[in-house]
Amino acid sequence: MLSPLTRRRFLQAATLAGAGQLASQAAAPPQPTSSTPAGRPLAIASGNGLQATARAMALIQQGADALDAVLAGVNLVEDDPNDHTVGLGGYPNEAGVVELDASVMHGPTGRGGAVAALQNIRNPSNVARLVMERTDHVLLVGAGALQFAKAHGFTEENLLTNAAREAWLKWKESLSAQDDWLPPHSIQTPDVGARRAPFARPYGTINCNALDQRGGISGCTTTSGLAFKIPGRVGDSPILGAGLWVDNEVGAAGSTGRGEANLLACSSVMVVEYMRQGLAPEAACLRACQRIVTQTKMRRLLDDQGRPKFNVSFYAFNKQGDFGGAAIWPGFKFAVNTGEAESRLVAGAHLY
Ligand code: ASP
Repeated sequence: MLSPLTRRRFLQAATLAGAGQLASQAAAPPQPTSSTPAGRPLAIASGNGLQATARAMALIQQGADALDAVLAGVNLVEDDPNDHTVGLGGYPNEAGVVELDASVMHGPTGRGGAVAALQNIRNPSNVARLVMERTDHVLLVGAGALQFAKAHGFTEENLLTNAAREAWLKWKESLSAQDDWLPPHSIQTPDVGARRAPFARPYGTINCNALDQRGGISGCTTTSGLAFKIPGRVGDSPILGAGLWVDNEVGAAGSTGRGEANLLACSSVMVVEYMRQGLAPEAACLRACQRIVTQTKMRRLLDDQGRPKFNVSFYAFNKQGDFGGAAIWPGFKFAVNTGEAESRLVAGAHLY
């Protein structure tokens, strides 16, 4: 099925082709703007957030608070078994158990909440919100977070889909020829289980931030984290200041990518502080990327030119409605909805 974006491009192309304009249009595609008229609502997200930003904007246009809007948006992704980076269907930890991290911040009231290493609950973002609203704490983890969720009526379920389990099993069986887990093989195969090619460890997350009609800013970051992590590992997503930061007077920022690098640089709060100092969102995101690069000194994480072998991406907007994103490495896009049309993907800047 064509995605809404693809469908729209297809319809645009068909119309333009009819008018004989397709060639010139293809040569110079219109550049998306990086701001929304001041005071107009806005929703931005990581690249897997087209639907989430559309849902968030639809609610904001009905008068919703930005936090209700972003949570309704990210819940769509948490509920999607085909997105292996979040909620139901997320890739599990090393032991084959899905463990989720999430954080929320509500700008107008200056509050935040988070959960980490939460098992069996598909919408950790909603639990994070309850930590914010119904406890005197900010972060609950593991068994305590699960107990808290159950106290509020969340029901436990197995979040490990067959597709995610098979990916985990393949990873486990190809780790080493020295252990006892064997992938499918023939009787002739030598070194069964030895990794033949580098197995890319999948990352992925959704960060979604929005500005509502009353100027309220809120955000959420929710994830299953690094695939096949050590049980109990917590990434940047649920750590306020690292994976998410909102300041209602300045703007919002969030991140995806290698959480360990971001934890060592606390970058989302830095992006917001750079914007407070006057940097545009994209420039602020680029500076946060540079800060991570400067902080990364471990040789095993650097290529021959001393550049990080991993990526981290940031998404940000300011109170005026200017938005931008940047990553260490090229090729990333983020989702934007300014309320005038359907959500679109915008190319972010990059350091290298
Ligand atoms: N930042 C997330 C983490 O480290 C993963 C990701 O965004 O891909 O858990």
